[in-house]
Amino acid sequence: TGARRATVVSNQHKDISVILFSEKVVKERTLEMGRELAADFAEKQPLIIGTLNGAFVFMADLVRAIDPLPDGLQMDFLRASSYIGASTTGEEAVSLGLVSKVPISGRHILLVEDIIDTGKTLQELCARLKSQGAASVSTVTLLDKSARRQVDLQPDYKGFECPDEFVVGYGLDYNEHYRSLPYIGVLRPECYS
Ligand code: 5GP
Ligand code: MG
Ligand code: MG
Repeated sequence: TGARRATVVSNQHKDISVILFSEKVVKERTLEMGRELAADFAEKQPLIIGTLNGAFVFMADLVRAIDPLPDGLQMDFLRASSYIGASTTGEEAVSLGLVSKVPISGRHILLVEDIIDTGKTLQELCARLKSQGAASVSTVTLLDKSARRQVDLQPDYKGFECPDEFVVGYGLDYNEHYRSLPYIGVLRPECYS
């Protein structure tokens, strides 16, 4: 009673049909990406901007993997949403709240996304950051559903290619549920019908 178990087993949640990217796989890939970003941005004093809410878990792990720490690295968040409430299709207009406290002008921006689907959110965000005078805008996404792209846009860095399924976990939600799952899995369709 009360004793700590030596190992923690992460059980698959009942609403998840399949785990696509396990906690271990995500961790290893994030460490790789962090090292690559550390090298590429070593001299750029990057401003890393995470998109809320979905990218918060990835952002937290990614920034700690950016080692060695580039001089002048700063970070901030902004809010972007293309799914309103409990929809799983991104047909609604993209709404953006760009509220960065750190001035964008002249900065090398690294935009951190959880997932790119149609690409409309990212295209709009990049355009806004450039219009605010960013010196450059690079993008990193954990997941890329490239089969669903509707605009001509590729991320500069991506964790994994994602099949055309509705996925949750590791920050990704359905109606604000499931974000805390430590892995990325496919949500059973009966859970969003
Ligand atoms: P886009 O503008 O690229 O179509 O929309 C990207 C946004 O749609 C993501 O930031 C995310 O909020 C949402 N999205 C797209 N596909 C999925 C998915 O499979 N699962 C979840 N939870 N959100 C998704
Ligand atoms: Mg997002
Ligand atoms: Mg969402």
